[in-house]
Amino acid sequence: MTKFVYNFHEGDKSMKDLLGGKGANLAEMTRLGLPVPPGFTITTEACRTYLAHGEVPEELATEVTGALRAVEDELGRRLGDPENPLLVSVRSGAKFSMPGMMETVLNVGLNDKSVEGLARKSGDERFAWDSYRRLIQMFGKTVLDIDGDLFSDALDEMKAKLGVKGDLELTAENLKELVVVFKQIVLEATGRDFPQDPREQLDMGVEAVFRSWNTERAHIYRRRERIPHDLGTAVNICTMVFGNMGDESGTGVCFTRDPSSGDSGVYGDYLMNAQGEDVVAGIRNTLPLSALETHNKAVYDELRGIMRTLETHYKDLCDIEFTIEQGKLWMLQTRVGKRTAAAAFRVASQLIDEKLITKNEALERVTGEQLTQLMFPQFDTDANRELLTRAMAASPGAAVGKIAFDNATAISMSEAGEPVILVRRETNPEDLAGMVVAEGILTARGGKTSHAAVVARGMGKTCVCGAEELEIDMSARSLSVNGKVFKEGDEISLDGTTGEVFEGRVEVVDSPVTTYLVEGLEAGLKAAADDEDMADLVRSVDRMLKHADKVRRLRVRTNADTPEDTERALGYGAEGIGLCRTEHMFLGERRALIERVILAEHGSQERQEAMDALIPLQKNDFKQMLEIMDDKPMTVRLIDPPLHEFLPDLTELEVKVAVAEAKGETGPQLEADKTMLTAVRRMHESNPMLGLRGVRLGLSMPGLFALQIRALVEAAAELKEAGKNPLPEVMVPLVGSIRELQIVREEAEHIIAEVEDAHGLKLDIPIGCMIELPRAALTAEDLAHEADFFSFGTNDLTQTGWGFSRDDVEGSFFGLYMDEGVFGVSPFESIDKHGVGLLVEMGVEKARSTKPDIKLGVCGEHGGDPESVHFFHKTGLSYVSCSPFRVPVARLEAGRAAV
Ligand code: ADP
Ligand code: MG
Ligand code: MG
Repeated sequence: MTKFVYNFHEGDKSMKDLLGGKGANLAEMTRLGLPVPPGFTITTEACRTYLAHGEVPEELATEVTGALRAVEDELGRRLGDPENPLLVSVRSGAKFSMPGMMETVLNVGLNDKSVEGLARKSGDERFAWDSYRRLIQMFGKTVLDIDGDLFSDALDEMKAKLGVKGDLELTAENLKELVVVFKQIVLEATGRDFPQDPREQLDMGVEAVFRSWNTERAHIYRRRERIPHDLGTAVNICTMVFGNMGDESGTGVCFTRDPSSGDSGVYGDYLMNAQGEDVVAGIRNTLPLSALETHNKAVYDELRGIMRTLETHYKDLCDIEFTIEQGKLWMLQTRVGKRTAAAAFRVASQLIDEKLITKNEALERVTGEQLTQLMFPQFDTDANRELLTRAMAASPGAAVGKIAFDNATAISMSEAGEPVILVRRETNPEDLAGMVVAEGILTARGGKTSHAAVVARGMGKTCVCGAEELEIDMSARSLSVNGKVFKEGDEISLDGTTGEVFEGRVEVVDSPVTTYLVEGLEAGLKAAADDEDMADLVRSVDRMLKHADKVRRLRVRTNADTPEDTERALGYGAEGIGLCRTEHMFLGERRALIERVILAEHGSQERQEAMDALIPLQKNDFKQMLEIMDDKPMTVRLIDPPLHEFLPDLTELEVKVAVAEAKGETGPQLEADKTMLTAVRRMHESNPMLGLRGVRLGLSMPGLFALQIRALVEAAAELKEAGKNPLPEVMVPLVGSIRELQIVREEAEHIIAEVEDAHGLKLDIPIGCMIELPRAALTAEDLAHEADFFSFGTNDLTQTGWGFSRDDVEGSFFGLYMDEGVFGVSPFESIDKHGVGLLVEMGVEKARSTKPDIKLGVCGEHGGDPESVHFFHKTGLSYVSCSPFRVPVARLEAGRAAV
């Protein structure tokens, strides 16, 4: 029989799949002997069963009874007992933390009778009634789906009536009255009374957590974070401890290191006499953890000790939720903490220094995505900037955009192509959709652990929070700060690294990390100037990349078509060019020449002249690139796209000719247009992607490939004469059959021999082809006889493997396909391992069966995608090739794949 319920004593941190992250870590802390309130976890499997059948599995109820009784016996109290009630929290917790996705219900077990018992037992009537009103409020909102504003408005109304500001000023009598109002709200909204039976409260809470897995918010978050939709969530039932039992009680959140900058040291916020989400919600302004040392040194020291224990145990930055009940410390949650990209690199490096982890382990702690974020530009400190206010630097980055005060506005602005800054008093899970589209988030309330801060860091978005000087007037839709007023749509700039907010648009400059990547460590440190954190970050990135370079097996090349791209890529550490496209070499002034090549008759004098004129131009292009790439391989792909792309548009030309004829015009221009129109019609294809392109074009248009090959080989010969070491490689696109490759190869070898003779030197120029058609992958065994190398063109391989054209489908049904789970991520972004990936695997295996040491690479967007890089490593490719700015990402990920 499946076991649906685990006591905290029964689990451990390895059981995240079954117990969720929160449950597994509560169990682990229990095992470590830390003060965790007793409780148990209902498994994700129970949730999956519920979601599949639409009802709670029957066995669950009996297992819950067993687990609950065990806890009751341990504590000597009964759930909701009228005299001495045991209360519990019902907490969701999936395998991956999903901040704010699924709400926790506290104080379950209170009812009209047990609230009196709690009051008597605790000797604190106010506390008991405050707990009860919180239960009705949370239960009403999360379990019964009642609009939360009804409760908070009623609370505000009461405060206004009494002329008090804070919740803490409400007396027991006031709270009793509030409970009556809240119960009335429940009755009116649901048609039934607030449930008085403690066990019914518990069961309803569990079911609500199960259900919440499928809310829209949860879906949005999972899509964004690529979390599968079928995991389900666990539910944790945990004995309540009370942070709202007077001034010696409190609740807080802390980190073992700064999750924002990565500085070592203790970071956190707490509030005395508060419960649950009070800290995160930004309702009252929190105190820094350091203040606890003066308030209660014993608790502070114990907490510091536990933080150290957890960090040593998890060997990583941990975040912690704790509660103090009348001077006794309780641990409510821990996990390996989310952190910014900068913190990830700096903490990994610190942990190596502290000998807690090895360099290989450290590599696993940083990602290519994080490195990308560090390469984003920053604000120019020399620019003219008007500082509006300075607040909490919650999530780094430089964001410029137009103010939006709510989701709907943020979404419509962003759909109109406007960058958005979402400005809110505080954020809550409802704001997620707006946060997703915003460049940056600015809030007036809340600290580094507030909802806005946590979610923004998780998304890698710039966030400044707790800007108390902001006054947001939602009815006027305006924002005033230090006497200045801004309307929705006005521009502001946020610096999430310093917490500064600027008026209007501030110019941005390269980040020192980018300077380091392009120009080296010394230049990077210089760019960091006297910003010690930044300098430390640059050193940490350097350390990780150096280690990645040392351990990786995959070489990293770049896709580059121009000298500028090539220089940039070399700076980023590219070890060769894996794809040099040659199409642009026919554009601009050369268009007229290529038009003549296309229009002239085969074998005509005119055509030969046009080709002869193109050779020196292309030779010069190749020479420039080869010179920059000296000593490093450069794969040149022969012309690939359909030729009609070099001719005028069919419809436009048809109209032009028709209009001229209707006007009765004659003359040479019209005749030329008509000739052109005939050619364009002849070449028109209804499916150009599957038409006359690649090697097919090369074979159909004799001399075209030859011209490119000659230009390349001559460029190499001339450079060699000049004492350089050019290493060109000729790559034939869209090959499907060995015969195609044979024909091109013969021609190429002939040209190479001619040029070698003419210059009296030897050139070693490999000739290979792309594998971008399923047929090529399937016959790689044959093709390998004629190829010195293969490069998997995974863009086209994805198009031809799936049978859809990228330009047509991405904006069309891909959204639907992702929603419906046909794919989790676009197969153009990350390689489809289970389908197109098999073609790559098969191609590799077959190619090596013919030529064991054949060089195998991949070009196309996937070469710079972290997931795909790991796949290509496993497949045994020799190199990946990606766009210049992805090169550092590929280096890092290739290293991570190897450890
Ligand atoms: P989240 O996933 O949003 O962090 P939690 O389940 O951790 O949700 O609950 C949120 C907060 O509620 C906790 O940080 C803690 O302050 C409070 N809480 C949860 N369970 C208990 C409990 N048993 N006793 C006291 N407070 C609790
Ligand atoms: Mg929450
Ligand atoms: Mg929590």
